Amino acid sequence: MTNIQETTLEISLPALTNNYKFLRSKLQETTKLMAVVKAYAYGSEPAQVASFLENLGVDYFAVAYTDEGITLRKAGVTKPILVLHPLPVHFKKIIDYKLEPSIYSSYVLNAFLKAAEKEHEYPVHLKFNTGLNRLGFTLDEVDAITDTLSENKELKIASIFSHLGASEDLSEKEFTLKQIHTFKKIAEKLLSKLTYKPMLHILNTSGILNYAAIAEFDMVRSGIGLYGFGNDVRFNKHLTPVISLKSVISQIHHISANESIGYNKGHIAKTNMKTATIPIGHADGIGRQYGKGKAFLTVNGVKCPIIGNVCMDMLMIDVSNVDCNEGDEVLVFGEHPTASEFAATAGTISYELITAISQRVKRKIIL
Ligand SMILES: *Cc1c(COP(=O)(O)O)cnc(C)c1O
Repeated sequence: MTNIQETTLEISLPALTNNYKFLRSKLQETTKLMAVVKAYAYGSEPAQVASFLENLGVDYFAVAYTDEGITLRKAGVTKPILVLHPLPVHFKKIIDYKLEPSIYSSYVLNAFLKAAEKEHEYPVHLKFNTGLNRLGFTLDEVDAITDTLSENKELKIASIFSHLGASEDLSEKEFTLKQIHTFKKIAEKLLSKLTYKPMLHILNTSGILNYAAIAEFDMVRSGIGLYGFGNDVRFNKHLTPVISLKSVISQIHHISANESIGYNKGHIAKTNMKTATIPIGHADGIGRQYGKGKAFLTVNGVKCPIIGNVCMDMLMIDVSNVDCNEGDEVLVFGEHPTASEFAATAGTISYELITAISQRVKRKIIL
């Protein structure tokens, strides 16, 4: 029987172990694995997830913002932490907490040099733009970087990296191969000017699954795969979703034909029907795009469409065809449907859905 009595996000550590092992099985033994735990570990729970991954043997962590790295340090994570998108205003904190910045432009390099003027060989990671056109230096900036760095012993390049823009999309293979080729050219040029060898890395989860044979380099970065999504049915069967979102029925209503349900009369009953109100809404991360029949919740094994408009703190589902009671457990997503399948009903992706589950939803770790 269920023990869910309120909206709860369950986080399965056995699933995390399974996914970690599957990704590792795709790599050479010497390749380092960087676990991407940005955005609250993809909406789960960063401190416990990172500590667990550290014990499993993850070599490196990545977060997006500085404060996310500080959270991990406060939770006792000791492995190196790369901050993917730091800003100069955070550089003092980066150093105080022994975080390692991604340096993606001359502006950022100069600002970090200033912040690190008392440091010796402080580890930094140089980010290169190879086609995503989001963050990063370009090939023609290599000389300027090495000139600046050879004059300064404050910094040491721990790694050189880039990010793929379409690694999950095999119809864009040519574009991906071009990115990998550009990255190799950049690395070659940079390494020829250094007296030591930084690590190289370019693959994210789909990169690992599709391009490990040709672009594994020294390290790979996995986010979504660790949480159970391979962006492709071929891989999803080997991965287990780490998070499941569950809730309960707070009230059942018997509605007569032609009555309206919810704000702005979002749904008009065609016939007599039975609805259930669920304590989860757009403020919890289930946006209005899932309303009006797009997505469904599962009650006692039966699919029940969300009807009308999703409210801030609740939504209503059609339970006309299911035997259910107030207090019964409701599944939003988990193993079936997965977050990826749920997200697809509203034309979005697992990444957006799971990272949007708001902090007021109770987290429960499943050991
Ligand atoms: C978020 C992110 C990743 C992780 O990507 P997944 O597809 O979740 O594995 C890797 N590298 C960078 C630069 C990122 O921003």
